[in-house]
Amino acid sequence: MIDEDYYLIKNCIIAENRKARPSINERSDSCPFCPGHESDIEQVHLEVKQENDFLVKIVNNKYPICSYNQGLYGVHDVVIDTSRHLECPKDFTTPHWHILLDAMQTRWRQIAQDPKIGFIQIFKNYGKSAGASISHSHWQIVALSQIPYQMLHQYEHYNAYQDWAKKCYLCHKLQETKKEDVIFENDTWIAIAPTPSEFEHETWLVPKVHRKHYGDLQPQELESAGELLKILLSAYDKLKQNCEFNICFMSGGLHNSLDYHFHIKIIPRLTQWAGFELATHCYINTIHPKIHVRLMQSILRE
Ligand SMILES: [Zn+2]
Ligand SMILES: [Zn+2]
Repeated sequence: MIDEDYYLIKNCIIAENRKARPSINERSDSCPFCPGHESDIEQVHLEVKQENDFLVKIVNNKYPICSYNQGLYGVHDVVIDTSRHLECPKDFTTPHWHILLDAMQTRWRQIAQDPKIGFIQIFKNYGKSAGASISHSHWQIVALSQIPYQMLHQYEHYNAYQDWAKKCYLCHKLQETKKEDVIFENDTWIAIAPTPSEFEHETWLVPKVHRKHYGDLQPQELESAGELLKILLSAYDKLKQNCEFNICFMSGGLHNSLDYHFHIKIIPRLTQWAGFELATHCYINTIHPKIHVRLMQSILRE
């Protein structure tokens, strides 16, 4: 179970087994994700191979926060998105990005078939300041029977707006966004700086067509998302060399009637949370989202 206090609107997951996980490593000879260390992996759920190497491999997390036979029911996977130890995601080719997003969607759909799973979070921690414990690039998929409070509240507020306005909040926001406030757009996605922006240089990628889940995205949308992620991560690298970041896939809950509009958050980790943020969950952002938009636009024009 998620440890929760309904009245103080707080929840957490106690996972003492994660204390044993290895720390970040720069060397490939001790890396459990590098080719040659297959014996470190207990279960491979999905693998896309290219010549002698793999391109994407989805495996079980050796230090899961949840599992089918633990106190907290769920799935915790690791998505190893390159066989090369220090390859940066911004340097992946566009077809590589597409294969990666497609593989994660296939796994998402497999997990979502379980009627006991109510919520799936896909995320990437890139770099130490983003929370990565292993330097070899990877993502994680956490699927839970319970929806974390923060997300449940977001779904409820989202649907309250929908009931009142008779339209989806993010669809409406996209319609209202002026051209000058768009960081970048392609045929199926639009990149914007959200208001309010909680973090310095935070960017959201929003599909132009309403989709509740990651599982609902169509092949063309996955392809364009890969193109856009590559473009934006390269721009972030120009903004700050070796930029560390989190990517969060914001998906609607499963097996419930609450609607949501899927989107992807890119959060570069340029500052640390301090006492005010930890106390209030209200974040102090020192860069106005409009300034972030202008900076990214100028980098992308170069
Ligand atoms: Zn490695
Ligand atoms: Zn929508």
